[in-house]
Amino acid sequence: MSVLESCDPEIWNLIQAEAKRQKDGLELIASENYTSAAIMEAAGSILTNKYAEGLPGRRYYGGCENVDIIEDLARDRACSLFGAEYANVQPHSGSQANMSVYFTVLKPGDTFLAMDLAHGGHLTHGMKLNFSGTLYNPVPYGVREDNHQIDYDQVAKLAREHKPKMIIAGASAYPREIDHPKFAEIAAEVGAVLMVDMAHYAGLVAGGVHNNPVEVADFVTSTTHKTLRGPRSGFVLMKKKYAKDLNREVFPGIQGGPLEHVIAGKAVCFKEANTDDFKAYAQQIVANAKALAETLLAGGIKLASGGTDNHLMLCDVTAIGLSGKIAEEALDKAGITVNKNMIPYDQRKPLDPSGIRIGTAALTTRGMKEDEMKKVGAWILKVLGAPEDEATISAVKGEIEDFAQSFPVPGIA
Ligand code: PLP
Repeated sequence: MSVLESCDPEIWNLIQAEAKRQKDGLELIASENYTSAAIMEAAGSILTNKYAEGLPGRRYYGGCENVDIIEDLARDRACSLFGAEYANVQPHSGSQANMSVYFTVLKPGDTFLAMDLAHGGHLTHGMKLNFSGTLYNPVPYGVREDNHQIDYDQVAKLAREHKPKMIIAGASAYPREIDHPKFAEIAAEVGAVLMVDMAHYAGLVAGGVHNNPVEVADFVTSTTHKTLRGPRSGFVLMKKKYAKDLNREVFPGIQGGPLEHVIAGKAVCFKEANTDDFKAYAQQIVANAKALAETLLAGGIKLASGGTDNHLMLCDVTAIGLSGKIAEEALDKAGITVNKNMIPYDQRKPLDPSGIRIGTAALTTRGMKEDEMKKVGAWILKVLGAPEDEATISAVKGEIEDFAQSFPVPGIA
């Protein structure tokens, strides 16, 4: 019996149930992944016992000689993986990574430009209930109505008109590669700082599949747990000239003690991402997304922008007579996990939008390739073709459970 099982069977049982859910189903949420057993070991280690306010070599607590080395390794590996001048690996999450850059660059009331939430931006890019929307003056840019791709002419026009202090590139639901050099050109023209939030596609940048924003941006923020496949957390890469100010905003600005166990997990993640295996994984994510997109398109589902060149696709399910909510619920019952999502220029509401967002990173980690994506696409189409037919859904669930056993999940027996 495990220590946890005897100490707290309620929590232990729920973890077992979640392990079964993760193993038996198809995880297609674009922001999720399966982290490695090595990363989980580091993140679940005794490092959780240690307080280490401050930075390596300049802490407010004694006994930091080991965590100092760990955090330095994480910083050095992040810099070497992405070619950055400087890294802060202490933000507890992507939102806090973003907040630390806002606090470094902006004063309350300042204007920034970022992707509209309804077109794929993140909450921290100016949503009215988020700190980014309450403290500052966000000006949203969007995608073109005809091709659902970022309207760089509109970004330039808005930049000239509003003279933002900062421009943010990066998104949560945008299926195309982002032209970071174009954003840098616009930012330079109006004298704005460029921040790129690569949370979703950091793994594709690390694997050399997408262009690297570090080469052109002042700040690059990210989560570690999406395509990058690390522990649940965040980090900031930057030019060295910003290091002192940014460090101060992370601590004591918005955080107390860093989570050194998670930082150890991040160090392992950056090491794993700097390998040929990871490059192959990153390429396969995109190949899988293209294969799945083709299958869904052939089945009558419309895709925002007509396809994908990253890990995700935005499916307009109204094309087959459904709403995103109905599609998400039906797929969930069959063991296929996705999330409902607005599509650009959506006429419906966020809680019952026209679309679902689908991502291929987690299934790629399980070793699935293009042939498996065709099967997954066929199951999705089958369920969405009969969302209220319990017999069909339960048959698909059974098939998926059998199929999933051939693709192991790291850390789950
Ligand atoms: N930035 C983007 C583009 C995201 O998609 C997300 C999360 O979905 C975040 C930031 C925030 O990450 P977290 O949930 O770790 O705060």
